[in-house]
Amino acid sequence: MTTLPAVQPTFRLEQKRHLTGPFPGPQSAALDARRGAVVAKGVASGVPVYAADADGGIVRDVDGNSFIDLGSGIAVTSVGASDPAVVQAVQEQVGHFTHTCFMVTPYEGYIAVAEQLAELTPGDFEKRTVLFNSGAEAVENAVKVARLATGRNAVVAFDHAYHGRTNLTMALTAKSMPYKTNFGPFAPEVYRMPMSYPYREENPSITGAEAAQRAITMIEKQIGGDSVAAIIIEPIQGEGGFIVPAEGFLPALAAWAKDNGVVFIADEVQSGFCRTGEWFAVNHEGVVPDIITMAKGIAGGMPLSAITGRADLLDAVHPGGLGGTYGGNPVACAAALAAIGTMKEQNLAGRARAIEGIVVPRFTALQEELGDAGIIGEVRGRGAMLAIEFVKPGTTTPNPEATKAIAAACLKEGVIILTCGTYGNVIRLLPPLVIGDELLLDGLDVLEGAIRAAA
Ligand SMILES: *Cc1c(COP(=O)(O)O)cnc(C)c1O
Repeated sequence: MTTLPAVQPTFRLEQKRHLTGPFPGPQSAALDARRGAVVAKGVASGVPVYAADADGGIVRDVDGNSFIDLGSGIAVTSVGASDPAVVQAVQEQVGHFTHTCFMVTPYEGYIAVAEQLAELTPGDFEKRTVLFNSGAEAVENAVKVARLATGRNAVVAFDHAYHGRTNLTMALTAKSMPYKTNFGPFAPEVYRMPMSYPYREENPSITGAEAAQRAITMIEKQIGGDSVAAIIIEPIQGEGGFIVPAEGFLPALAAWAKDNGVVFIADEVQSGFCRTGEWFAVNHEGVVPDIITMAKGIAGGMPLSAITGRADLLDAVHPGGLGGTYGGNPVACAAALAAIGTMKEQNLAGRARAIEGIVVPRFTALQEELGDAGIIGEVRGRGAMLAIEFVKPGTTTPNPEATKAIAAACLKEGVIILTCGTYGNVIRLLPPLVIGDELLLDGLDVLEGAIRAAA
């Protein structure tokens, strides 16, 4: 299963966890005081220290502490936060031009990224791409295209979905606190349908196809298939809890969409670019979306997002109907081309599968050891998009308290770990795909210790 990369990464920073003492240290504390006076409280940070450097699987703070990064800045720095190829490409590009605006004076990098996306995304039909800055912007534009191309209004989203924080994407996002509370009114014509969430199904034997039919029946009854412009779904849900739908769910939805002239949009903003052990998470079940939204891992940390989809859909839009001042910024395009190059050269999809092979057996064994009265409800995910869902001992009742305590205990030991989930009871592992085995194992030791302490 594990394929060795053709090229092994080398790192600038020593790949070792190291705490100089209690933290936040004095430099971080000083920055935090300055921050409190000028930065809005609505922007919250999970880690109480300030970054000075980052490389491979390490984030170093301004006081010299080195943390193991099991979050990649939310699935962004898959190639590391200072991949030499990305750094070089960015430096070369900024030395020539930082911006012209593709809608004013176009440039090659944008086209080269679109060529890569046409090649890497599933589907052997003609494709078109548009580049933007953020995941939310990509989602907004995928919906714009679907509505224009179909002449329909309704958009179907799912329970536990996360699609962003702009007005339309807030409407598509399921969870109220913190994303939506008091930020309404929200965009209309968004309909929410039940997701396939195998761990939390009332009927645990429901198949993926049956779960899809449950949603389809509701769509047909509540909206009518011929009023639906698009179905948008994360093939593995991210913020909602790293929920992997039952096998057959996505193919059945995609087939229904096809039969009803509905645009099937896969939101691969978090799951794309080798994260799940394939270029895209839809590849695991051979699903071919009409439009894919991409961002996060696409450009080695530079802000870039994209939609790629069927040429007939995207080319339906009139000239000038799509775009944005910064969309497809030349520096971000250069970074994307380099990051994609690194993913190919180092076989980071294979590396993601190898990480799954290290993490999943270990925490499944721990789950078994802790037994039915333990706090691990489920270990799940694909590739290096992995999660542990925590419950109250002997039940399936979500256990956000233990989850928070475990994440805090890891951080205290120098391991950055993210949580997620509608119920706040999921620890998600999103290490940079370039992380070395030794560093990963050290981080997992800390996590296992924290889980044992909480259990
Ligand atoms: C993060 C995310 C978004 C939003 O991306 P931003 O760049 O934060 O706007 C949209 N969809 C999914 C699945 C995401 O994980």
